[in-house]
Amino acid sequence: PKGTISILGLGAMGSAIADRLRGTGYDTTVWNRTPARTEPHRAAGSNVAATVAEAAAASDIVFVVLLDHASVREHLEPVAAELKGKVVVNLTTTTPNEARDTAAWAAEQGLTYLDGAIMAVPAMIGTPASLLLYSGDENAYAIAKTALETLGTAEFEGADAGLASLKDMALLTAMYAMFGGVLQAVAMMRTVGAPAAQTARDIVAWLGAVVPLAELTVAVVDGGDYDAGAGQSVDFTRAAVASLITAAREQGTGADFLEPLMKHLDERAATGRGNADWVSVIEQLKITA
Ligand code: NDP
Repeated sequence: PKGTISILGLGAMGSAIADRLRGTGYDTTVWNRTPARTEPHRAAGSNVAATVAEAAAASDIVFVVLLDHASVREHLEPVAAELKGKVVVNLTTTTPNEARDTAAWAAEQGLTYLDGAIMAVPAMIGTPASLLLYSGDENAYAIAKTALETLGTAEFEGADAGLASLKDMALLTAMYAMFGGVLQAVAMMRTVGAPAAQTARDIVAWLGAVVPLAELTVAVVDGGDYDAGAGQSVDFTRAAVASLITAAREQGTGADFLEPLMKHLDERAATGRGNADWVSVIEQLKITA
């Protein structure tokens, strides 16, 4: 075997990870809260641990793929002693601050901790389409790197353990906000009987053409000069978005996902920045409480 790896959590994602590691020659030990889920893994050649402590003791690298931050802490805290000297890789989705909190706890316990975020669905694990982000202990990353690369493209974001989660959540934010717009568009076309699947095809073609423009559109943000005049202005964008909102209302669907953007554009214009690049609304995305 290439090395010993334990996997805590055999849900859809933990199972895919265990399958891939076992399939690429690692000596795997699995644990799951509900023992029945370990059976297919035992049949396929994994060792089954009856307790988290047993799983922690069995391997040099311990992957944690549980539901959330609370479940991770519930199961790791009692086995800190067994985890000493191991590399703990937590792939459970958490917020950046939860990741930092677990990293601080691990440091207090003398554990080598790496936090990860998975930009993939279970079926993509082990294929080139899957991207996994890591942050925290760089030494842990170096030790686990070969195993991490069997799961997909591995990217180390930095020593701040929250960085992988932060990038994960930023990318998911872009996705969900965009899909909100997709729903709005499908709703508008449904008012004339267009099947959702057909509108979706049109949207995929359109977004495929315009999404690459995102890089150029926001390039001005880094320099902070919104008056250079290369991009679309606040006033131009206000007129465009106002038409979209009016059209949506005329069709009777409302424009719930666009109204927040309009609010920000209006605020920019109200402060005399109507001629500035519309992406300057980014300066308003701050909590100033
Ligand atoms: P599932 O719902 O399929 O599995 C959840 C797993 O967590 C099961 O093993 C379950 O155990 C376990 N679990 C839940 N609560 C507890 C608890 N209190 N104590 C111990 N074990 C617990 O989820 P996934 O496998 O899909 O997701 C796992 C992690 O991976 C999540 O953080 C998710 O966000 C992340 N992820 C998942 C992706 C996906 O597409 N599925 C994509 C990217 C990240 P039991 O069998 O006993 O219920």
